[in-house]
Amino acid sequence: MGKQEDFVLRALEERDVRFVRLWFTDVLGFLKSVAVAPAELEGAFTEGIGFDGSAIEGFARVYEADMLAKPDPSTFQILPWRGEGPSTARMFCDIVMPDGSASYADPRHVLKRTLGKAADQGFTFYTHPEIEFYLFKDTPQPGVEPVPVDRSGFFDHTAQSMGADFRREAITMLESMGISVEFSHHEGGPGQQEIDLRYADALSTADNIMTFRTVVREVALSQGIWASFMPKPFTTHPGSGMHTHVSLFEGDRNAFFEAGAEYQLSRTARQFIAGILRHASEISVVTNQWVNSYKRLISGDEAPPYICWGHNNRSAMIRVPMYKPAKGQSTRIELRTIDAACNPYLAYAVVLAAGMKGIAEGYELPREAEDDMWSLTERERQSLGIDPLPKSLYDAIGIAESSELLADTLGEHVFDFFLRNKRQEWEEYRGQVSAFERDRMLPVV
Ligand code: GLU
Ligand code: MG
Ligand code: MG
Repeated sequence: MGKQEDFVLRALEERDVRFVRLWFTDVLGFLKSVAVAPAELEGAFTEGIGFDGSAIEGFARVYEADMLAKPDPSTFQILPWRGEGPSTARMFCDIVMPDGSASYADPRHVLKRTLGKAADQGFTFYTHPEIEFYLFKDTPQPGVEPVPVDRSGFFDHTAQSMGADFRREAITMLESMGISVEFSHHEGGPGQQEIDLRYADALSTADNIMTFRTVVREVALSQGIWASFMPKPFTTHPGSGMHTHVSLFEGDRNAFFEAGAEYQLSRTARQFIAGILRHASEISVVTNQWVNSYKRLISGDEAPPYICWGHNNRSAMIRVPMYKPAKGQSTRIELRTIDAACNPYLAYAVVLAAGMKGIAEGYELPREAEDDMWSLTERERQSLGIDPLPKSLYDAIGIAESSELLADTLGEHVFDFFLRNKRQEWEEYRGQVSAFERDRMLPVV
């Protein structure tokens, strides 16, 4: 047993932990949890805790259903909303097969494998997500339009604001679990909030996003309200994105930074951006995985429907922020497509793979987009050589199906399951008659 495991076993006694929740994530990004008694943990560390993988979305074929969850001791935290002494703790797990090999279906493993490939080339991948979500007054009811908790807008500071109280409690809880928060504010839509996590290596960030969603939902429920990360809950209000700032480090050195270069972007950074742009449509099914995701990616409301980059251009899909004159170590790019209802492990894996492909193949960075993409006509955009992102989940699936990059990064099993699941979602959606159609047609046809 290693040092970290010993630390956890000691903490169990010192903090009077009665339940340890073992957390992992299914292929669609939903959190799964099994609680074990502290006495089981030594075994869990050495062998893992067995479960039926075929009952988890995307995990296993029925004939090889036995899987084991092996806790990662570095992720040990007490769950603050369960109270202290007796307390409940959690650890994220790696999923392993009975022979001890890593599970091909575990999204955390997909990310680890991709990070490992980047590490072989000397790179560490850092991410910093800006997570947006709505707060609603009530638990969602089928067919009922949700009511936001307030009518405020971007950066609004209002007296006795529900959103501010909410953010304070959620952030206090996140900080107590070792998750640093950098900024928080009211976002553009009524009831819409944003909380930005401090940058960290991508595996920690993905774990933190899973924790974040849980904490946000728990705090909302404790305040009698409802939180949702749905990408576009209203036709007429902005959607919720999960803009992510990304950078590569080589040891202590930011590999995206080059003093004196245009926007201080190194060749590595330019190739990385070029990689994400060239493969953006292929990986879209993962970064924006729901039918609803594509209703956010339309012109306006600060969400990017077109494949382009720009410095300080918020209508571009990739923005190079220029907050400080001499950025040095903080040089990074902001990817604005991803939404907060993605599987963060898979989304960060495919983004990294696309960027690394740009480096490996030495892709040229296309010209910067200087215009406001949302106000260009179709023809103007085409003449600039700027393509649209997929316009629907259906389009995204079609492009993903022939993507080698996606198949290689996700691995055959996750790739097949994912596309099968998404085709099914599309088929169910396709047959739905909507209010849009009824409102347009019944009065006239
Ligand atoms: N809510 C916008 C989106 O869907 C982003 C707003 C912002 O720039 O932060 O991406
Ligand atoms: Mg925002
Ligand atoms: Mg942003």
